Amino acid sequence: MKKLVAGNWKMNGSLAANEVLLAGLRTVPEVDVAVCVPYPYLAQLQRRPSGFELGAQDVSEFAEGAYTGEVSAAMLLDFGCRYVIVGHSERRARFGDDDLTVARKALSALSAGLVPIVCVGETLDERDAGEVFGVITRQLAAVGEVLGTAWLGRLVLAYEPVWAIGTGRSATAAQAGEVHAAIRSWLVEQGVDAGTVRILYGGSVKPDNAAELFSMPNVDGGLIGGASLVADDFMAICRAAGV
Ligand code: PEP
Repeated sequence: MKKLVAGNWKMNGSLAANEVLLAGLRTVPEVDVAVCVPYPYLAQLQRRPSGFELGAQDVSEFAEGAYTGEVSAAMLLDFGCRYVIVGHSERRARFGDDDLTVARKALSALSAGLVPIVCVGETLDERDAGEVFGVITRQLAAVGEVLGTAWLGRLVLAYEPVWAIGTGRSATAAQAGEVHAAIRSWLVEQGVDAGTVRILYGGSVKPDNAAELFSMPNVDGGLIGGASLVADDFMAICRAAGV
């Protein structure tokens, strides 16, 4: 299984800034690489360096109809998306995406032929209270219930401790490895051929900590926020995943 490195541009960029960023991207054949960009830039990203898959950062749980402001999975496919992030902690915390909504969004993506990158992760309070595995199991259980075993084998999971996102404070390799192993075990318990599901780590991955994080068993790549906006940093992280 090749590692996957997905950049999450979040609500950043402009037509001009994106061109500069794109000019700095280079193919890394040893790694699957994706850029998950704001909806309006999906058209601009039709032209991108080879070897870069396209993704979005959210998708509607509904297929079509009177849902003002929503974007369907079929629309993302129209623009050549392969991936879509669902359940990012920023959407869970600020836009009301609960466990069931996240699961329904993952189902809507899979049904249309997209690969959802389903994010799970605990807050600092939850970690301090010893609830890491309880929280993650609860988030995963909703996905498992809605998707069922067959679909579960076709998504990408991302462990993103909320306290590590955008803070500059990454989980240690050992912390990431421990949670990734638990997620892998959970997949096995669900009857999924767990070797086929990539589990990404996300949270302040930078060029100087990427290699160590990616060297852990069960860490199958990364979901990269801030560092994906700097071409040299993103490329260094992609190369670290290819070693
Ligand atoms: C993210 O937004 O998914 C993320 C991991 O952000 P950062 O790399 O900036 O912590």
